[in-house]
Amino acid sequence: MNENVAILGLGTMGGGMAANLLRAGFSLAVYNRTAAKAEALVKDGARLASTPAEAVKSASIVIGMLADDAASREVWAAKNGALEGVQQGAILIESSTVSPAWIAELAQLASARGAELLDAPVTGSRLQAAAGQLTFLAGGSDRALEAATPVLKAMSKEIVHLGPVGSGAKMKLINNFLCGVQVASLAEGLAWIESSGLDRDKAISILKNGAPGSPLLGAISARMVNHDYTVNFLLKLMAKDLAYAQSEASGCGVQLTVSEAARGLFESAIALGFGEEDMASVIEPLRRQ
Ligand code: NAP
Repeated sequence: MNENVAILGLGTMGGGMAANLLRAGFSLAVYNRTAAKAEALVKDGARLASTPAEAVKSASIVIGMLADDAASREVWAAKNGALEGVQQGAILIESSTVSPAWIAELAQLASARGAELLDAPVTGSRLQAAAGQLTFLAGGSDRALEAATPVLKAMSKEIVHLGPVGSGAKMKLINNFLCGVQVASLAEGLAWIESSGLDRDKAISILKNGAPGSPLLGAISARMVNHDYTVNFLLKLMAKDLAYAQSEASGCGVQLTVSEAARGLFESAIALGFGEEDMASVIEPLRRQ
């Protein structure tokens, strides 16, 4: 495959996604604010660019995998940002979890440069990104999605087309709202188990195998029990997702009161210095009460 692809953002998720694009044989340019994170990819044949504009100059498909609205705006739209360098007709894919409002603005900026935006945030975490087993939640035109499909397939097990541009971002916030409140409620439940005198392993096994059980509960309870906060999903990013979810739902006339409570717990963990740890560390403020 010799299609030129660029990826902007080589964090926990972007690094794995880029490795799969190389494995699939795409000619790949990469950009990351911290250039050192590109080292292994460069050894495997990626071209490291010093600015986003330089990364995208010959790419027909450009993917962004960045922390939040501010990072996405910086990389796409600031001076030497990707929009300065994009080719006419390029398909731009914003895979970061960002607000639908920013996606709408970015779609207009892309169109003004003769490019087209798809929003395609992902479900799955570090391991799924590394294994090419993500699910893309896509919003945008049929034509753009069809053109992007071979590239998206190299990183995923499933691509779901949810509607016009912005649909993926909306769905992703609903998904992470449910994830965030479940992780926060698990933290409270486990802190309660730990101070209740119950056998912890038996109690967790009942939760895992009963009605509350979910893949998320299984994975996160193990990390909480082992105090293993190796980053799969940064805690501060979940606080961000819940804030975006609340703002988006409020615009639809729905107040996410349980998100507000869950976000409070994530913010307490950030105040204790756990923002750069895995989100499982959200239990720590409760263990210290
Ligand atoms: P991450 O490891 O924190 O990586 C964030 C990326 O954004 C890095 O490339 C970082 O550059 C860049 N960045 C941050 N602030 C920037 C700025 N002001 N200017 C330029 N670049 C900036 O995050 P991640 O886990 O890969 O997540 C990426 C996106 O996917 C986020 O929106 C997240 O919510 C979403 N997501 C994550 C997961 C997960 O399980 N981790 C799952 C689904 C979706 P540096 O390397 O220089 O810091």
